[in-house]
Amino acid sequence: MDCLFCKIVEGSIPSNKVFENENLLVFHDIVPAAPVHVLIIPKKHIDSMNEVTTEDLPLIAEIHQVAQQVAKDLGVNESGYRLINNCGPDSGQAVQHLHYHLLGGAKIGALTGISSSHQS
Ligand code: 5GP
Ligand code: ZN
Repeated sequence: MDCLFCKIVEGSIPSNKVFENENLLVFHDIVPAAPVHVLIIPKKHIDSMNEVTTEDLPLIAEIHQVAQQVAKDLGVNESGYRLINNCGPDSGQAVQHLHYHLLGGAKIGALTGISSSHQS
């Protein structure tokens, strides 16, 4: 499958990893939007949140558990962080492999991401 994040999981595209177990991989985003910006992904290919099934729910729970651990490891658990999933075109999802952004290390602005074309 021609998927960037599957290639990162396989290791054919390098990444700067911060955590890995049999189900999940966490690595630094190549274009960080905050001092701490990592991506938490399942090793299993899932296109987006829309394709998450009941069978995948333990994986989603584990993503939250690993986010908590990674936030601690990267020193932002007390200062705070944001976990974001983009799903589909309106969200700006660019990579069609389920992933969660964990952002921290500085004040992160309020969520104002509605473009003018969507305002009434
Ligand atoms: P999305 O917009 O799909 O929610 O987020 C995709 C993220 O993947 C972006 O923040 C982008 O910077 C990151 N990204 C794209 N290509 C690569 C890559 O080759 N390596 C890493 N580490 N991150 C990437
Ligand atoms: Zn994939």
